[in-house]
Amino acid sequence: MRVCVLGSGSKGNSTYIEGENTKILIDGGLSKLELEKRLMQIDVNPSEINAILITHEHSDHISGISNFSKKYGCKVYAHSDAWTVLSDKLVGVEFKNQYEFNGSDFSINELNISTFDLDHDAIHCVGFSVSCNKTKFSIATDLGHTTPEIIHNLSSSDLVVLEANHDIQKLKTNTKYPYSLKQRILSNHGHLSNQASADTLIQMLGNKTRAVIFGHLSEENNTPDLVVDTVKQTFINNGALPEREIKIDIAKQHKPSTIYKIKNN
Ligand SMILES: [Zn+2]
Ligand SMILES: [Zn+2]
Repeated sequence: MRVCVLGSGSKGNSTYIEGENTKILIDGGLSKLELEKRLMQIDVNPSEINAILITHEHSDHISGISNFSKKYGCKVYAHSDAWTVLSDKLVGVEFKNQYEFNGSDFSINELNISTFDLDHDAIHCVGFSVSCNKTKFSIATDLGHTTPEIIHNLSSSDLVVLEANHDIQKLKTNTKYPYSLKQRILSNHGHLSNQASADTLIQMLGNKTRAVIFGHLSEENNTPDLVVDTVKQTFINNGALPEREIKIDIAKQHKPSTIYKIKNN
Protein backbone atom coordinates (compact mmCIF):
# COMPACT_ATOMS: atom_id res chain seq x y z
CA MET A 1 0.00 0.00 0.00
CA ARG A 2 1.20 3.56 -0.72
CA VAL A 3 -0.12 6.56 1.20
CA CYS A 4 0.40 10.30 0.74
CA VAL A 5 -1.32 13.15 2.56
CA LEU A 6 -2.00 15.57 -0.31
CA GLY A 7 -2.96 18.39 2.04
CA SER A 8 -4.08 18.79 5.64
CA GLY A 9 -5.56 21.67 7.64
CA SER A 10 -8.58 23.94 7.77
CA LYS A 11 -7.95 25.09 4.17
CA GLY A 12 -8.45 21.59 2.81
CA ASN A 13 -7.85 17.91 3.48
CA SER A 14 -7.17 14.98 1.20
CA THR A 15 -5.18 11.75 1.55
CA TYR A 16 -4.21 9.43 -1.30
CA ILE A 17 -4.13 5.65 -0.80
CA GLU A 18 -3.06 3.10 -3.37
CA GLY A 19 -3.38 -0.68 -3.28
CA GLU A 20 -2.19 -3.05 -5.98
CA ASN A 21 -4.97 -2.17 -8.42
CA THR A 22 -6.96 0.53 -6.68
CA LYS A 23 -6.46 4.22 -6.02
CA ILE A 24 -8.66 6.16 -3.61
CA LEU A 25 -8.81 9.46 -1.80
CA ILE A 26 -10.00 10.02 1.73
CA ASP A 27 -11.69 13.43 1.59
CA GLY A 28 -11.39 15.91 -1.27
CA GLY A 29 -11.30 19.27 0.49
CA LEU A 30 -8.98 20.93 -2.02
CA SER A 31 -10.28 22.38 -5.29
CA LYS A 32 -10.50 20.02 -8.27
CA LEU A 33 -7.53 21.82 -9.86
CA GLU A 34 -5.46 21.53 -6.70
CA LEU A 35 -6.34 17.83 -6.32
CA GLU A 36 -5.29 17.26 -9.92
CA LYS A 37 -2.07 19.23 -9.42
CA ARG A 38 -1.04 17.42 -6.24
CA LEU A 39 -1.88 13.97 -7.66
CA MET A 40 0.26 14.74 -10.70
CA GLN A 41 3.07 15.89 -8.37
CA ILE A 42 3.18 12.34 -7.01
CA ASP A 43 2.86 10.85 -10.53
CA VAL A 44 -0.76 9.76 -10.21
CA ASN A 45 -3.14 10.37 -13.09
CA PRO A 46 -6.34 11.88 -11.56
CA SER A 47 -8.47 9.84 -13.98
CA GLU A 48 -7.26 6.66 -12.23
CA ILE A 49 -8.90 7.53 -8.89
CA ASN A 50 -11.55 4.85 -8.28
CA ALA A 51 -13.32 6.41 -5.31
CA ILE A 52 -13.38 9.21 -2.75
CA LEU A 53 -14.31 8.41 0.86
CA ILE A 54 -15.72 11.24 2.95
CA THR A 55 -15.10 11.62 6.70
CA HIS A 56 -17.76 14.33 7.20
CA GLU A 57 -19.55 17.15 5.43
CA HIS A 58 -17.42 20.17 6.44
CA SER A 59 -16.20 22.09 3.40
CA ASP A 60 -12.50 21.58 4.18
CA HIS A 61 -13.15 17.87 3.47
CA ILE A 62 -15.46 18.00 0.46
CA SER A 63 -14.99 21.22 -1.51
CA GLY A 64 -13.40 19.67 -4.63
CA ILE A 65 -15.36 16.41 -4.74
CA SER A 66 -18.35 17.55 -6.79
CA ASN A 67 -16.26 18.83 -9.70
CA PHE A 68 -13.69 16.04 -9.45
CA SER A 69 -16.28 13.25 -9.55
CA LYS A 70 -18.20 15.03 -12.30
CA LYS A 71 -15.07 15.13 -14.48
CA TYR A 72 -13.68 11.67 -13.74
CA GLY A 73 -16.82 9.72 -12.80
CA CYS A 74 -15.34 8.32 -9.59
CA LYS A 75 -17.50 6.81 -6.88
CA VAL A 76 -18.09 8.75 -3.68
CA TYR A 77 -18.65 7.01 -0.33
CA ALA A 78 -20.08 8.67 2.79
CA HIS A 79 -22.02 7.68 5.88
CA SER A 80 -25.77 7.46 5.24
CA ASP A 81 -26.39 10.25 7.81
CA ALA A 82 -23.94 12.53 6.00
CA TRP A 83 -25.66 11.99 2.64
CA THR A 84 -28.74 13.78 4.00
CA VAL A 85 -26.80 17.03 3.55
CA LEU A 86 -24.17 15.92 1.03
CA SER A 87 -26.69 15.31 -1.76
CA ASP A 88 -27.25 19.07 -2.02
CA LYS A 89 -23.57 19.95 -1.66
CA LEU A 90 -22.25 17.40 -4.18
CA VAL A 91 -24.56 17.95 -7.13
CA GLY A 92 -21.82 16.98 -9.59
CA VAL A 93 -21.69 13.42 -8.23
CA GLU A 94 -24.00 11.30 -10.36
CA PHE A 95 -26.56 9.32 -8.41
CA LYS A 96 -25.06 6.03 -9.61
CA ASN A 97 -21.73 7.09 -8.06
CA GLN A 98 -23.18 7.88 -4.63
CA TYR A 99 -22.42 5.06 -2.18
CA GLU A 100 -23.32 4.96 1.48
CA PHE A 101 -21.92 3.05 4.43
CA ASN A 102 -23.41 2.64 7.86
CA GLY A 103 -20.88 1.16 10.27
CA SER A 104 -20.27 -2.13 8.45
CA ASP A 105 -16.98 -2.89 6.73
CA PHE A 106 -16.93 -2.71 2.94
CA SER A 107 -14.40 -3.13 0.20
CA ILE A 108 -13.29 -1.29 -2.88
CA ASN A 109 -11.63 -4.00 -4.96
CA GLU A 110 -8.69 -5.32 -2.87
CA LEU A 111 -8.91 -2.53 -0.27
CA ASN A 112 -10.91 -3.43 2.84
CA ILE A 113 -12.40 -0.41 4.57
CA SER A 114 -13.66 -0.09 8.12
CA THR A 115 -14.95 3.03 9.81
CA PHE A 116 -15.03 4.24 13.41
CA ASP A 117 -17.04 7.12 14.85
CA LEU A 118 -15.40 10.41 15.78
CA ASP A 119 -17.04 12.96 18.09
CA HIS A 120 -17.06 16.21 16.10
CA ASP A 121 -19.59 18.94 15.38
CA ALA A 122 -20.72 17.35 12.11
CA ILE A 123 -23.75 15.22 11.26
CA HIS A 124 -21.70 12.04 11.47
CA CYS A 125 -17.90 12.12 11.43
CA VAL A 126 -15.84 8.96 10.92
CA GLY A 127 -12.25 7.82 10.84
CA PHE A 128 -11.16 5.16 8.35
CA SER A 129 -8.94 2.11 8.42
CA VAL A 130 -7.83 0.76 5.05
CA SER A 131 -6.38 -2.76 5.03
CA CYS A 132 -4.72 -4.75 2.28
CA ASN A 133 -2.25 -7.69 2.33
CA LYS A 134 -2.02 -7.62 6.16
CA THR A 135 -1.04 -3.96 6.15
CA LYS A 136 -3.27 -1.30 7.63
CA PHE A 137 -3.51 2.47 7.42
CA SER A 138 -5.78 4.55 9.67
CA ILE A 139 -6.77 8.18 9.75
CA ALA A 140 -8.46 10.14 12.55
CA THR A 141 -8.80 13.91 12.18
CA ASP A 142 -11.62 16.22 13.30
CA LEU A 143 -12.33 14.73 16.71
CA GLY A 144 -12.84 16.35 20.10
CA HIS A 145 -11.52 13.41 22.10
CA THR A 146 -10.45 9.81 21.70
CA THR A 147 -12.22 6.61 22.76
CA PRO A 148 -10.99 3.04 23.33
CA GLU A 149 -12.42 2.12 19.92
CA ILE A 150 -10.36 4.84 18.22
CA ILE A 151 -7.18 3.85 20.11
CA HIS A 152 -7.76 0.21 19.13
CA ASN A 153 -8.08 1.08 15.44
CA LEU A 154 -5.00 3.28 15.46
CA SER A 155 -2.78 0.96 17.47
CA SER A 156 -3.39 -1.95 15.10
CA SER A 157 -2.21 0.13 12.12
CA ASP A 158 1.20 0.29 10.41
CA LEU A 159 0.74 3.94 9.51
CA VAL A 160 -1.50 6.51 11.19
CA VAL A 161 -2.64 10.04 10.41
CA LEU A 162 -3.74 11.67 13.66
CA GLU A 163 -5.04 15.16 14.29
CA ALA A 164 -2.88 17.60 16.28
CA ASN A 165 -4.94 20.72 15.75
CA HIS A 166 -3.80 23.30 18.26
CA ASP A 167 -1.59 24.21 21.14
CA ILE A 168 -4.06 24.89 23.94
CA GLN A 169 -2.16 27.91 25.31
CA LYS A 170 -1.70 29.44 21.86
CA LEU A 171 -5.41 29.03 21.14
CA LYS A 172 -6.51 30.46 24.47
CA THR A 173 -4.36 33.57 24.06
CA ASN A 174 -5.22 34.15 20.38
CA THR A 175 -6.91 37.55 20.34
CA LYS A 176 -8.24 37.02 16.79
CA TYR A 177 -10.50 34.13 17.85
CA PRO A 178 -13.85 34.91 19.52
CA TYR A 179 -14.60 33.12 22.78
CA SER A 180 -17.37 31.03 21.19
CA LEU A 181 -15.01 29.68 18.51
CA LYS A 182 -12.37 28.82 21.11
CA GLN A 183 -15.00 26.97 23.14
CA ARG A 184 -16.10 25.08 20.02
CA ILE A 185 -12.55 23.99 19.16
CA LEU A 186 -11.73 23.00 22.76
CA SER A 187 -15.00 21.09 23.32
CA ASN A 188 -15.48 17.35 23.32
CA HIS A 189 -16.72 17.52 19.72
CA GLY A 190 -14.17 20.03 18.43
CA HIS A 191 -10.56 19.32 17.54
CA LEU A 192 -7.74 17.35 19.19
CA SER A 193 -5.03 19.45 20.87
CA ASN A 194 -1.33 18.67 20.65
CA GLN A 195 -1.40 17.37 24.23
CA ALA A 196 -4.44 15.15 23.63
CA SER A 197 -2.81 13.88 20.45
CA ALA A 198 0.49 13.13 22.23
CA ASP A 199 -1.42 11.34 25.02
CA THR A 200 -3.19 9.30 22.34
CA LEU A 201 0.15 8.34 20.83
CA ILE A 202 1.36 7.08 24.23
CA GLN A 203 -1.82 5.01 24.59
CA MET A 204 -1.55 3.45 21.14
CA LEU A 205 2.13 2.54 21.35
CA GLY A 206 2.69 -1.08 20.49
CA ASN A 207 4.94 -2.95 18.14
CA LYS A 208 2.74 -2.44 15.08
CA THR A 209 2.79 1.27 14.23
CA ARG A 210 5.87 2.42 12.33
CA ALA A 211 4.95 6.00 11.55
CA VAL A 212 2.52 8.67 12.72
CA ILE A 213 1.75 11.69 10.59
CA PHE A 214 0.23 14.50 12.65
CA GLY A 215 -2.29 16.49 10.65
CA HIS A 216 -4.99 19.14 10.53
CA LEU A 217 -2.64 21.62 12.26
CA SER A 218 -4.16 25.05 12.76
CA GLU A 219 -2.11 27.68 10.93
CA GLU A 220 -3.17 30.21 13.61
CA ASN A 221 -2.83 28.17 16.77
CA ASN A 222 -0.07 25.66 16.10
CA THR A 223 3.33 25.05 14.55
CA PRO A 224 5.10 21.79 13.59
CA ASP A 225 7.74 22.52 16.28
CA LEU A 226 5.06 22.80 18.97
CA VAL A 227 3.66 19.40 17.96
CA VAL A 228 7.07 17.73 18.03
CA ASP A 229 8.02 19.38 21.35
CA THR A 230 4.74 18.30 22.95
CA VAL A 231 5.20 14.72 21.76
CA LYS A 232 8.82 14.61 23.03
CA GLN A 233 7.88 16.09 26.40
CA THR A 234 4.97 13.68 26.78
CA PHE A 235 7.27 10.73 26.12
CA ILE A 236 9.66 12.03 28.79
CA ASN A 237 6.87 12.69 31.29
CA ASN A 238 5.50 9.18 30.84
CA GLY A 239 8.90 7.50 30.85
CA ALA A 240 7.65 5.85 27.68
CA LEU A 241 9.93 4.55 25.00
CA PRO A 242 8.48 2.84 21.96
CA GLU A 243 9.48 -0.79 21.52
CA ARG A 244 10.65 0.12 18.05
CA GLU A 245 11.40 3.46 16.55
CA ILE A 246 8.37 5.36 15.33
CA LYS A 247 8.75 7.95 12.61
CA ILE A 248 6.99 11.21 13.47
CA ASP A 249 5.94 13.40 10.57
CA ILE A 250 3.81 16.52 10.12
CA ALA A 251 1.35 16.83 7.22
CA LYS A 252 1.44 20.14 5.36
CA GLN A 253 -1.43 22.33 4.25
CA HIS A 254 0.10 23.48 0.98
CA LYS A 255 2.03 20.50 -0.37
CA PRO A 256 1.93 16.70 -0.41
CA SER A 257 3.70 14.71 2.31
CA THR A 258 6.35 12.06 1.77
CA ILE A 259 4.90 9.01 0.00
CA TYR A 260 4.76 6.17 2.52
CA LYS A 261 5.08 2.58 1.30
CA ILE A 262 3.78 0.08 3.79
CA LYS A 263 4.58 -3.57 3.27
CA ASN A 264 3.82 -6.70 5.19
CA ASN A 265 7.07 -7.93 6.76
ZN1 LIG B 1 -11.57 19.60 9.12
ZN1 LIG C 1 -14.68 19.22 10.60
